[in-house]
Amino acid sequence: MRLLLVEDEPGMAAALGRGLSAEGYVVDRVADGPAGLEAARFGAYDVVVLDIMLPGMSGYSVVRTLREEQNWVPVLLLSAKDGEYDVADGLDYGADDYLTKPFSFVVLLARLRSLVRRDTGPRPTVLEAGGLSLDPATHRVQVDGADVELSPREFRLLEQLLRAAPAVISKDELLDQVWASGDDANVVEVYVGYLRRKLGRERIETVRGVGYRIAD
Ligand code: CA
Repeated sequence: MRLLLVEDEPGMAAALGRGLSAEGYVVDRVADGPAGLEAARFGAYDVVVLDIMLPGMSGYSVVRTLREEQNWVPVLLLSAKDGEYDVADGLDYGADDYLTKPFSFVVLLARLRSLVRRDTGPRPTVLEAGGLSLDPATHRVQVDGADVELSPREFRLLEQLLRAAPAVISKDELLDQVWASGDDANVVEVYVGYLRRKLGRERIETVRGVGYRIAD
């Protein structure tokens, strides 16, 4: 399992590198944003552990650039609790998960296992259902052939609904896939409301007590 560690704090990088190597990961370490981007582009890694506050280029920019280039390597962001960014925003830029420092090494290992298992793999196929289409690669969304602008969060929500279609997807599942753990489930309802306003009310059905589904 090849892992890229992008972390500028020498003590942290050394400790993580040692620990992950001991767990059987083949670890490459770089200490700034541009080097991280370069390595992630060409290194064929199974997973990337990416600090947010980095010299030269933030972890956000690194992951956003990778996704724009259609590089879907699983990325786990690391952030300091008092950082100036909201870590959850990292998910909008295409990261798969995040941990706030200080974190337990055991938790990091569990998250990495789950990321690699999830096999984020290539995701370029256009998703279509009920007159809606969404292209994960170009971020283009259309309703009956007409373009619609969505925020990153709305986009991720619609993507999950379309991936589930024609099946129902539960609120908890959506919360889990689109928001960070610990967020309130009401946020799902709020964002389904935003989507309905942009796509048309009838496009997303509520299945009472179960969840949501794209209408046929
Ligand atoms: Ca840092």
